[in-house]
Amino acid sequence: TESCLKAIDAADALNAFVHKTPEIAMERAAAADVRLRAGDAPAMCGLPIGIKDLFCTRGVPSQAGSRILQGFLPEYESTVSQNLADAGAVMLGKLNMDEFAMGSSNETSTYGNAISPWRRGNDDAALTPGGSSGGSAAAVAADLCLAATGTDTGGSIRQPAAFTGTVGIKPTYGRCSRWGIVAFASSLDQAGPMTKSVRDAAIMLEAMCGHDPKDSTSADLPVPDFEAMLSGDIKGKTIGIPREYRMDGMPGEIETLWSQGTDMLRDAGAKIVDISLPHTKYALPAYYVIAPAEASSNLARYDGVRYGHRAKLAQGDGITEMYEKTRAEGFGHEVQRRIMVGTYVLSAGFYDAYYNRARKVRTLIKRDFENVFAEGVDAILTPATPSAAFGLGEMTDADPVQMYLNDVFTVTVNLAGLPGISVPTGLDSQGLPLGLQLIGRPWEEGDLLNTAYALE
Ligand code: GLN
Repeated sequence: TESCLKAIDAADALNAFVHKTPEIAMERAAAADVRLRAGDAPAMCGLPIGIKDLFCTRGVPSQAGSRILQGFLPEYESTVSQNLADAGAVMLGKLNMDEFAMGSSNETSTYGNAISPWRRGNDDAALTPGGSSGGSAAAVAADLCLAATGTDTGGSIRQPAAFTGTVGIKPTYGRCSRWGIVAFASSLDQAGPMTKSVRDAAIMLEAMCGHDPKDSTSADLPVPDFEAMLSGDIKGKTIGIPREYRMDGMPGEIETLWSQGTDMLRDAGAKIVDISLPHTKYALPAYYVIAPAEASSNLARYDGVRYGHRAKLAQGDGITEMYEKTRAEGFGHEVQRRIMVGTYVLSAGFYDAYYNRARKVRTLIKRDFENVFAEGVDAILTPATPSAAFGLGEMTDADPVQMYLNDVFTVTVNLAGLPGISVPTGLDSQGLPLGLQLIGRPWEEGDLLNTAYALE
């Protein structure tokens, strides 16, 4: 814990940790020490970790990367961060993220973006660690902590993991409690671990998840010993390669990585089959209707009364002006854009044409996966991202759709509620990490982690 705290102070330039909690860390480390000596050490006893700013942590700033939550100190702890503390993990601080988890580069954060410790060849230009869990990815990749929590609504664990050479798993929807995690799109949001290895991900996921009566969508299912399932033996497993993920204009290096990954799994004894997920091309548009719709509703609670920031008012201003000024000051551009899109697709005249249509598409996407699993496919292998990490400012606000295209391989998994993991599998010609994604059957994270273990 001490050496991590030192490393964090020395790495301020990465802007990964946005609130440091050294007192809490030293206190928990001392308690962990006592338990270790007493021979009563839980699974993550004494392991220093970072917590994404989206998780409410008692008495510690929890701003979801937004100005509107400035000064908000939760009275309660999220279930996931409490589970980790109960497992002995030591919180070092809160990690940078895109505002309300909306983004793929960390550039929408009110704290300014986190920076990846990686560089392109000899070029010194700063690269994005990805987003929205970019602070988590940068911190793990730069050895500022052993692991970190992330959340994933459309790829926010898997894309930053792929950009930074780390492992990130989004579990099945309902595996982790969402209680105490600031809501973005409630039917898609899931927490998950970001780690240096598949084994670490297995250990940390087990500590994070489990049924929680405070979240009625959390599943009342036993939590398996994921680590014990890591044999690396995948003989006889069937791995599907979906033809619709072979997109036009995909860089050759991503194609090569994908076929190398396929060969690795085949060499390990898996059976490789071509599969079709015919509704894939509708996933991105459906996601960018459903996620903003849910966000516009979830974000209505930031009214300047209950949490954080409130605008200074002029003489004669009433409650409407208070709402308007507070929300105009408190929310950044991307968040405002999502609220407008979400409000539009939910409005009376357009509800059927957009929101309801998107929900139907979502069902079709889910069925595509159910069909291939029913045919005996155990896991699906795809690229995690359409490119390696890009430079800061390279994909600017001027064209938000360019940024949205980053999520092309990841959003299907959230729409279908499935578990997905990003595994670092190589470097591109400029020395930047690339990741592959494995998608598993619902509730079979243990199997999925084991397949990822064979790929690692
Ligand atoms: N990049 C996607 C978005 O901006 C996904 C974000 C996420 O998973 N939280 O919506």
